[in-house]
Amino acid sequence: MLTEGDLRKGPNLATPLLSTTTGSWRLVRPVLNPKRCNNCLTCWLFCPEGCFTRGESIVSLNLDFCKGCGICVAECPREALTLVEEGSNDARLSER
Ligand code: SF4
Ligand code: SF4
Repeated sequence: MLTEGDLRKGPNLATPLLSTTTGSWRLVRPVLNPKRCNNCLTCWLFCPEGCFTRGESIVSLNLDFCKGCGICVAECPREALTLVEEGSNDARLSER
């Protein structure tokens, strides 16, 4: 049963709505390669969960609400995002 402490305010909402973070059901997640990202914000535009925010030179990725749909990976024009399995070691991918 959910308690008030389990509820979080969703990202990027002018009028915040209460929502829960992604549960353990997510099988894959995106990994950002900072060397390829040019801060174009295409991922921000397409992500249905508002996981991306603009940074100084690259986007930042908050996976709290990510459901592993892979849309950001498919839409990134610079192949800066890769889907990896949950629990896998993704350090190598960010060095491509
Ligand atoms: S779409 Fe790709 S290159 Fe553009 S900001 Fe997102 S991760 Fe970076
Ligand atoms: S996998 Fe889907 S939910 Fe997760 S960051 Fe990419 S577009 Fe957003």
